[in-house]
Order: sequence, then structure tokens, then C-alpha cells
Amino acid sequence: MTFTDMIRTLSDSVVDSLADFDREVALAAGLDPRRVRDWEAVSNTYFGRTKWTKWQRKALDRARTSGLSIDQLAFIETRLSLIDDPSTRWKTRLSLLNSRGTFDAVKRRAKQLVPDPEPAAPADAVKFGRSKMGKRSMTVTADERLLADTEQFLRDGIDSSKPAMPQMASRFEDLLRGNLGGSTDGNSDGAPVTGVPHLRPRPLVLVGLPDFVDIVRGSGDEVILGLTDGTTMTGAEFLNRFIATAGNELEAAVFHPQKGAVNLYRMSRFANQKQRDLARAAMPMCSQPFCRHGADACEIHHITPWSRGGETNVANLAPLCSYHNRVNDDDPRRRKRGRIHMRRGTPVWVSPRGTPVRRTHHPFGAMSTLFGR
Ligand SMILES: [Zn+2]
Repeated sequence: MTFTDMIRTLSDSVVDSLADFDREVALAAGLDPRRVRDWEAVSNTYFGRTKWTKWQRKALDRARTSGLSIDQLAFIETRLSLIDDPSTRWKTRLSLLNSRGTFDAVKRRAKQLVPDPEPAAPADAVKFGRSKMGKRSMTVTADERLLADTEQFLRDGIDSSKPAMPQMASRFEDLLRGNLGGSTDGNSDGAPVTGVPHLRPRPLVLVGLPDFVDIVRGSGDEVILGLTDGTTMTGAEFLNRFIATAGNELEAAVFHPQKGAVNLYRMSRFANQKQRDLARAAMPMCSQPFCRHGADACEIHHITPWSRGGETNVANLAPLCSYHNRVNDDDPRRRKRGRIHMRRGTPVWVSPRGTPVRRTHHPFGAMSTLFGR
């Protein structure tokens, strides 16, 4: 094919060549996915199913005689996607199909008929980034007045001989924590200064069972451990004997080297809450390996769904943030976004093509902490 042939192919009443458009064939041929999407839109307009059959026929006739290139037809569709009302869209399309000339000429006319939408104000939001060497970033979008006041407040009283940013950050921290003092001065009822509370970390002692201990059975809320000397003891007895938790406030989670989470010991804790806590100890982050959400902010996902007979026990539970819980391929046949499996007591995400991917960011699940990889 000569260059002239190729140009003719792309410009001479091309619309009919999109009648049997096939996305997979185009992608397999190595075409740019953006171009494939553009062509798909053109194909859908002129050959897709629609209630507007009369308009579609008219538009197809006009596209055939227009001499517009495939790129021009695609640009027209991109521009028309800004119009919500289908009737207005068809009318504007017919009018644009009368355009002639270079790509830029058609583009100018399309922008005239379908002007850029008024930019909308960004929505109020607070966004948090992932940790980097013990630091995180927060981005706030809010009323300009509030943020102008905040900036002024943070700049107040900083030492101009030193860099401003760290001082502002420090003042911001004091503001958030309610450490700026004086804010109760005019407060007749002497209300305490309030601020962002420090979360009290709940220490959880991870206990790895020695190899000579096997789990005989779980009885009610307790597990019976079998020792290789022929004796048995309950999990609580084991902890009292070896970890000496009697009287202290610690919680202890016991893990078996092969079977994973065994039990969590504390005076009063509902079975369900206990299983959730164990699931979080096994995977302290969202189980999707690239996600930044901590397990405390996650939902507890049933690896085999409840509806398919999956049970609420720790071998079947994994923390997933609400987004990754929603997109997980609960049905193993779906193979679109990957799904969570349990591998030796640790939830592992397996890609749609079946490749297990381990978390490398914050990989401090109980099993790797206690027993290594
Ligand atoms: Zn996630």
C-alpha cells in the first residue's frame, strides 16, 4: 500500500468501514487504545442500536457524502459527548456533518457549536497520601476564605530568619492538637481546649506457637493445644505459662506457623470482634498490595463469600478497604480485578491472570513477622 492509498483509506467515506468495528481486533493489531475508543464511539453512533433510527440514517448518509476523515468524525463525537440531551446531540451532529475543510477547520466549528462547559468549582475534600519515611501529606480543598484565614494564622508570628514552611507546619500541628493555649481565655465555662485526639494504639502481642505444638480442636471460644509430650493445654493456659499475661492489660494473638491465626486473648471481646482483630493482625493493611489504607480503616472481607457458604472464621477473613472490597472478583470466574486468597495464614491478592502479588509496602503481617517468609 502506498502512502496515498493509506491516506485515502483514512479519509474517503470511511464511515462504512466501521460498520463491523471490532475492538479486540484493533487492539491486537497494536493500535493506540485511545484511537480504538474514538473509533468505537463513531461506530456506535452510526451503526449502534438506538431509538433515534431516523436521525441515525440521516447522519450516516451525510457522513458518507461529507468526505470527513475518520479523525474528524471522531473529534465530532468527542465534542458531542458534552451534550446531555440526545435530541440536541443528533441535531448538532447533522449540522457538524456539513463542515468541510482541514481537521482544524472542523474542530473550530465544533467548538463554536459545542462550547467548552463552564468549569465547575472543585468539590470540598480532604485527601491523605501514603506514608513516606514516617511522613504523610494532606490536601484540603475548602472555601477560599477559610483557607486564606488559615494561611494568615499559620504565618502569624513566624521567625522570618528561618524557613517558613516547617514553622507553619509546626503551628498547624499545634492548632490541630489544641495546643495553642489562650483559646479558652474568653471562655467563661472554662471548657478544655479541644483538638484532634491522639489515637491510643492498642498493642497486640503476637505469639508464634512453637513447632512442637499442634492445634487439636477449637472448643467454643477456646482452642486446645496438643503438645508432643502427649499433654494438652488450652490457649489461655499456654499464654499464662509462657507469656505471663495474668494481670497485665495486654492482648495476645496466637499464630500457628502453618495454619495462621489461632486465637486472641482478652477478658471480654465478642467472637466477631475478635475474629476481625485477628484478621487485622494477620494483615495490618488493606489486602490489595498497592493500597495505602490501614486495616483499621478497612472492612472485613469474606474470602469465600457468605452467599457461597463462606464462614465467618479467621481463615476466611481479610481486611479490604471499601473500594477494593467492592471491586474484588468475589466470583472466581469473573477474572476482572483479581481476588484475595488465603496463603498460609496471610491474605494474598491474586491478579486476574492468576499471579499472586505480595505486599512490599508495610509488609508487617503477623505471619511474616513471626515466622519470616
Ligand atoms: Zn484498598
